[in-house]
Amino acid sequence: MLTSIFLNVIANISILTTASYILVKLIPKKKIYTISLSQRLWMIGLSGVTSSLLMLFSVKLPENVILDFRHVILILLVYYFGSSVSFPIAVLMAVLRLLWGINPSSIRTASIYIVLGLVLPYVCKKLMKWFNRYAILLMLNAICVSTIALNLFLLYDNLLLSTFICLSVLLLSSSVVIAVTLFIEDLIRMRSLFLKEQERAKMDYLTGLYNMREFNKKWQSIAANDSVRTTAFMMLDIDHFKCINDKYGHANGNFILRQLATILKVGAPDSELVYRVGGEEFCLILNNLPYTEQKKIAEKVRANVASKEFLLENGAGINMTISIGLAASTQKKDMKNLFRLADRCLYKAKNQGRNRVIGATLESE
Ligand code: GH3
Ligand code: MG
Ligand code: MG
Repeated sequence: MLTSIFLNVIANISILTTASYILVKLIPKKKIYTISLSQRLWMIGLSGVTSSLLMLFSVKLPENVILDFRHVILILLVYYFGSSVSFPIAVLMAVLRLLWGINPSSIRTASIYIVLGLVLPYVCKKLMKWFNRYAILLMLNAICVSTIALNLFLLYDNLLLSTFICLSVLLLSSSVVIAVTLFIEDLIRMRSLFLKEQERAKMDYLTGLYNMREFNKKWQSIAANDSVRTTAFMMLDIDHFKCINDKYGHANGNFILRQLATILKVGAPDSELVYRVGGEEFCLILNNLPYTEQKKIAEKVRANVASKEFLLENGAGINMTISIGLAASTQKKDMKNLFRLADRCLYKAKNQGRNRVIGATLESE
């Protein structure tokens, strides 16, 4: 008997740990914090399967009582996702319990699950103001176990036996709640670290703009994106930047690069499409704009830079200019050639005296 209880507890813990791992995978990623309908359906499906497995490995007691850690799924869902996810799952758990066999014990358990589905999110919200995560989960667990206690007492009419069983369930499930929560928190921490590093790998550390690798990726996605009808690359390079570095020092050069990055972000139609593609070379992608508009934007950026006073670290101001090569295309078949054309235009702008915009379309080449 004891061996079988021990094996069932181990099976329950393994099932819960596996389910928690999958649950963390379903938590919304990065900037999107709301749970989509498909994620919600996956969670409901996962909870259904997990509940059924837990019931399969439950400890069977007289009067059709089955004891397992199903309520742990419910409290984790209440804590991490709130009532919009936990209530449908509480209803599903009630239905599954009835499918397992209709008897006084299952009817009471099913009703208790529905009440818990309604009450626990409210209690959890209130507790969040006062207690930390582990204390809240332990208290929610204690509430669930006390409902089990009530069910047992009504069925067995034996206070001593019911109390003994419930204290054992409380002790075991509290340890499981702590262990599974530690596991979930660790997974969440690792994933957010990974996502942060992934985001950092896209960035240029000095200016905070996207880097060349991200620019290359963007080409491919634009080529495959039907909503982008026309595109243009605006390549720009600071004029005589080497002289600025030589005269004012590398640190001031860096300071100026950061200021230029801000000007470009402000002047770009889409600030997410500004890239640092070389030391003092930048590229802007202009999507879905007519060629005349693209030229206007390029000219405005050039004029903004020429008229701006860039700050040095000692507070003094200096002026500098940029040259721009603008390559546009009404088709997006040949992004590599578009990039080469932008580079050629930039080269021409430099040769023709700098501080100017030279534009061309891929089709007229
Ligand atoms: P041009 O008008 O022909 O562009 O002249 P230029 O001096 O700007 O020549 P070029 O474009 O070849 O300039 C490259 C210079 O940019 C060389 C290097 O000192 C400077 N540079 C490149 N990356 C950085 C950087 O991260 N920080 C600083 N401060 N300078 C950089
Ligand atoms: Mg250069
Ligand atoms: Mg330069």
